[in-house]
Amino acid sequence: LQFADCKFLPKLQGNLEAAGYETPTPVQMQTIPAALKGRDVLVSAETGSGKTASFLLPIIMRCCLIRIHGLSEREKPLAMVLAPTRELCAQVEEQAKVLAKGLPFKTALVVGGDAMPQQVHRIKQGVELIIGTPGRLIDLLSKHDDLTLQGVCILALDEVDCLLESGFRDQVLQLVQALAMPQILMYSATILPAIERFSSSLLKNPLIISV
Ligand code: AMP
Repeated sequence: LQFADCKFLPKLQGNLEAAGYETPTPVQMQTIPAALKGRDVLVSAETGSGKTASFLLPIIMRCCLIRIHGLSEREKPLAMVLAPTRELCAQVEEQAKVLAKGLPFKTALVVGGDAMPQQVHRIKQGVELIIGTPGRLIDLLSKHDDLTLQGVCILALDEVDCLLESGFRDQVLQLVQALAMPQILMYSATILPAIERFSSSLLKNPLIISV
């Protein structure tokens, strides 16, 4: 598989080339085609494998197509990434900005430590992707009834093993329940039985990918 086979929007393909991504990594080769077809995936992958782009590229592609065809209201976020730490969330946002440069794709970072009013303001202005830690997101949503996640149709759960170890299980479940049957891309360093049980409670007929 080459990136050119993925039929990304020309601008997205151009951003990949500008970022020096020449060939997909093994995790990207397996994940991207399935995710672009709308399939749920459960991926065992470590940092350094290219896992971030393997969920960001399908997310960016899907969001841009929805925007280009005017299929959802501007003020509704279309995608969400949940990750265990603010540092990881910031890295995801950084990569999203590089990959989505020049495309109708805005992001909001919802993590502790930054001012909540600014985060709310940014979301209300209209963003495609929310990236956040589960605790902060629940806190923000509980204080702002006017914010809805009903438009979120694709969700990535990064480092689910760490999310569960950090006690975020119930928050993740609560957030997924606030969405209307999204496509889910789930990542974990290792797929232990607890992760498998958690995934089978959320994912629909997932493709299991391990590299
Ligand atoms: P990750 O495993 O997502 O933390 O990514 C590790 C690093 O690899 C990041 O700095 C990415 O920018 C970079 N990267 C991801 N995919 C590719 C690729 N296909 N070619 C070159 N670099 C990549």
